Amino acid sequence: MTHDTQPKASHFVDGAYLEDKDGAAFPVIYPASGERIATVHSATPATIDRALDAASRAQKDWAAMTGAQRGRILRRAADLMRERNRELSVLETYDTGKPLQETLVADATSGADALEYFGGLAASLTGEHIQLGQDWVYTRREPLGVCVGIGAWNYPTQIACWKAAPALACGNAMVFKPSETTPLCALKVAEILHEAGLPAGVFNVVQGAGEVGAALVTDRRVAKVSLTGSVPTGKKVYAAAAAEMKHVTMELGGKSPLLVFDDADLDNAVGGAILGNFYSSGQVCSNGTRVFVQKGIRGAFLDRLSERLAGAVIGDPLDEATNFGPLVSDAQMKIVQDYIAKGEAEGARLAYGGKRLDRAGFYLEPTVFADVTDDMTIAREEIFGPVMAVLDFDTEEEAIARANATRYGLSAGVFTQNITRAHRVIAELQAGTCFINSYNDAPVEAPFGGVKLSGVGRENSKEAVHHYSQLKSVYVRMGDVEAPF
Ligand code: NAD
Repeated sequence: MTHDTQPKASHFVDGAYLEDKDGAAFPVIYPASGERIATVHSATPATIDRALDAASRAQKDWAAMTGAQRGRILRRAADLMRERNRELSVLETYDTGKPLQETLVADATSGADALEYFGGLAASLTGEHIQLGQDWVYTRREPLGVCVGIGAWNYPTQIACWKAAPALACGNAMVFKPSETTPLCALKVAEILHEAGLPAGVFNVVQGAGEVGAALVTDRRVAKVSLTGSVPTGKKVYAAAAAEMKHVTMELGGKSPLLVFDDADLDNAVGGAILGNFYSSGQVCSNGTRVFVQKGIRGAFLDRLSERLAGAVIGDPLDEATNFGPLVSDAQMKIVQDYIAKGEAEGARLAYGGKRLDRAGFYLEPTVFADVTDDMTIAREEIFGPVMAVLDFDTEEEAIARANATRYGLSAGVFTQNITRAHRVIAELQAGTCFINSYNDAPVEAPFGGVKLSGVGRENSKEAVHHYSQLKSVYVRMGDVEAPF
């Protein structure tokens, strides 16, 4: 291993690395080789308590600073992240197995975008003045307090930043728990924030699996929980938060539809389907994994898709020529293999790929099923791997109805050159994050999140401020109080 991937300690609490060997040790596995590249200890109740205590203490002084002061620190952190993009990208690749070609442009850079955006916004957060004759009301936009962030394993740097940046801009403190599968990157985010001047305790990282997450969610000191993860976990976390009336943001799974009409530009539609199914080896929540292709373009679409998939460079993710890497873990690879087997067993036609690669690491081929029907398991359940289901359709009405016939609602996309159809169809699709003649763009300026089982609340954009702050309304009487007795 050419890089030193062992972190200085497992946790980052109250402004410094913290080790606590009483917590169970767990390995960090490099997905491209299956080798252990670090060992991390799970947080004990004492470490969790220390992190929450530090956050509660630090939050008050942090909130007392001006928005401009807080914003300056976040923007400095954004600059540091960009300066260290390569080093952070290499670590992201070790943590997740995603190709360096991707991590160089999608992870620390996206994290920096969030820190810069919310850093810029911090000074402009205000309440309002409401005149009522002589009297008036003013509102104060106040932080929620201590927020907990819980991450999935597919975008460890980005998820930590997408949660920390708006939370901190609004004057909250955060305790962040990365996924136990990818514990390394969030520690670097903490390091960089502190190097940029963040006061100790405002952003903390503790490691561990679901039970550490659950201990954080149920703690009385916590005002809000933001989770990125699966729907089953989301239901548990939402219920636990509801018991104490805590605020939540839920960024959960999906089975999003991508509609390709006969009049679509073929190569753009194929490109969108590739981006929406095979980027990050398909481990993207918003992926358009149900690709509905209108019958007139279906044959050409499948042919062109196969041609372009043959151009995938599958290999060592640290080689910048590689554009398709392994899955994150042995467990995830097996889940995906099971879905591929189910697709074949239920009668879908394997049109491309489907096999594990004969090499070390957790590599599966990009896989396409054609002749998929709505009732098949691979068309109903989130696979979270490089498996595209292609379904045929005749009419716009039919495609919309079938696209919406799911309990999920994260994303949706349409490829057509008919502009009225594009907007008409998008308006009908039940999804929070949509695309016309594109797929999976996630600029920090745009709200991101789902409807139905895919989530609650929005990350990114000005909208995120509403999920990390609350309004205090203050009535000011200028005259005498008229009481009835
Ligand atoms: P997961 O639900 O297994 O775990 C997510 C996180 O929750 C992990 O950190 C885990 O330790 C923690 N957790 C598990 N049980 C918990 C509990 N009872 N209380 C508190 N925390 C608990 O998900 P995953 O396998 O890490 O990630 C894949 C899933 O995440 C997919 O469903 C994917 O669609 C979703 N995802 C969504 C988005 C989004 O923005 N909408 C982004 C990325 C991934």
